Amino acid sequence: MFANTRALSSMIIQYITNIEPNSLFIVNAISLSAFATAFFCIWLKQRDRDYWLYWVAANVVMAIGFTAFVVIDRTQMMQLIIVNGFMVMGIALRWQALRSFFHRKNYIEINLLILLVLLLPYIFSSYVTNRFIFGFVNLLFFFEIILVVRELIRPNGETLPSRWGLVIAYGIVGVAFIARVVQGWVTGPNNMTLLPNDALLTVLLLTISVHIVASGAFAISIAYERGISELKQMALLDPLTDLYNRRAFELALTDRKLDSAVLTLILLDIDHFKRVNDDYGHEAGDIALKRCANILTTIFRKKDVVARIGGEEFAVILPDTTLNEAYDYAERVRKAVEDDAFEHESDIVRLTISAGVCQTVAGVTSLADIAKKADSSLYMAKNRGRNRVEIFAV
Ligand code: GH3
Ligand code: MG
Ligand code: MG
Repeated sequence: MFANTRALSSMIIQYITNIEPNSLFIVNAISLSAFATAFFCIWLKQRDRDYWLYWVAANVVMAIGFTAFVVIDRTQMMQLIIVNGFMVMGIALRWQALRSFFHRKNYIEINLLILLVLLLPYIFSSYVTNRFIFGFVNLLFFFEIILVVRELIRPNGETLPSRWGLVIAYGIVGVAFIARVVQGWVTGPNNMTLLPNDALLTVLLLTISVHIVASGAFAISIAYERGISELKQMALLDPLTDLYNRRAFELALTDRKLDSAVLTLILLDIDHFKRVNDDYGHEAGDIALKRCANILTTIFRKKDVVARIGGEEFAVILPDTTLNEAYDYAERVRKAVEDDAFEHESDIVRLTISAGVCQTVAGVTSLADIAKKADSSLYMAKNRGRNRVEIFAV
């Protein structure tokens, strides 16, 4: 068994050693170009997202670099430095792509600084050995990978599982670069060339092949995940007021019912709203709705769910709130709406609002009962003259 494993691993090592690095350089250049084309096509449909252009640029620059590796004289330091410059720039652009994706500031000047650092070994080449330069350049690549991974693991409040795919895709090349640093500074031969054409080069290039495909696929899927959650969020918001819509309210209602023993609810309805539309026009009506929504968001807390559940009807779910506290909140809203007269096309528009407050014990009352209770207290407020708040009395 042991002998077989050894035979197998030596066969694999033999196989890897036999792969011609030039073919890997070319394969990598081709997959980078394919992904660059895909990213460009996505950008055509999402022109406001610079993220894609950074990815396109990163892949194009790296594809040029990989192609150049095949044609240059790899014993010439300046030629190698220039080609490595494309690589360094390519990773730096990927870092910028991720910063742009996470809405963080872009630092192009840091890209240029990294390029200057790459020139250091050339400037000091008469003082340092090839081994040192080799380790130094690979350490610079590793440092860039750290920058990229840092962007991915910083929390930003979004759940994007694909970011971990990207962390792994970058992690594997990070490990491969560190292996090259160790080779240059610890285990490599003293008379090392600037780019040793050895098995480790093949392993690094294979790792990069996997990395290109994985990072390209995950760059698309992380954006897809965000797109889906943006759409979901949009489906739960009312476009006029930016409050939650009826669907979101109903979802929240079922949620609350499950995890909190007590459910306190306020239902609000603008009084004689039809008249506002008739007297001042639909536009004035829309402005009035937005002003009411603003009042609601100012008065209620972060944990409350404020929704526009109908034309001029709003509902608020208040977790951990007593009936009397909820009544006080509703009363504050009523007063604020009454005081919020506004001018529209030289008319003064005044509004009032009625509200019904109710509370229920989950498990005892059904959701239909809650809606009925809130409705009947609102109906009571309307019947008793409007511009008032009523509590549902059991
Ligand atoms: P009440 O005091 O009994 O509530 O009377 P009301 O006129 O407010 O009640 P009703 O429900 O009959 O009228 C609601 C009106 O709200 C009807 C509709 O024209 C108006 N409305 C519904 N949605 C919108 C909207 O998005 N914008 C505007 N401007 N008006 C809307
Ligand atoms: Mg109304
Ligand atoms: Mg109504």
